[in-house]
Amino acid sequence: MEYVIGDDLLQQQGLKRTKLRMALLDCFLNTKHALSYPDIKQMLGEGVDRSTLYRNLAAFEEADIIHRIYDQSGVAKYAFGKVHDHGRDHAHFVCEQCETVYCMEKATTVDINVPKGFKTKTIQTIIRGICSDC
Ligand SMILES: [Zn+2]
Ligand SMILES: [Zn+2]
Repeated sequence: MEYVIGDDLLQQQGLKRTKLRMALLDCFLNTKHALSYPDIKQMLGEGVDRSTLYRNLAAFEEADIIHRIYDQSGVAKYAFGKVHDHGRDHAHFVCEQCETVYCMEKATTVDINVPKGFKTKTIQTIIRGICSDC
């Protein structure tokens, strides 16, 4: 079933369907929290070339299939879905204990008035705390 979703999604975004892309999509579809590069590598197993994986992650990001968030150590994590919804980013919860990053899909960022002459591009809201697993 997931493969059908993935297949459509790739096609919709103009990405060619490859075995690696399908496997990558599966990782994101089956995980509730954001994944770091080592997480993804572990899920895909051996035999996946580092630069190929990075290239495909970049392509997914470009196509708005996934988005990137940074945990408190500055490690990039990727999560399924667009970061922008109606021109706004959703908030992220970062667990201080296990460093897991969760998308808070229903929590949007607050409006902040910037001084004249400043142009806001994105606002990222990070909520720090302890997740339910810790
Ligand atoms: Zn935690
Ligand atoms: Zn997110």
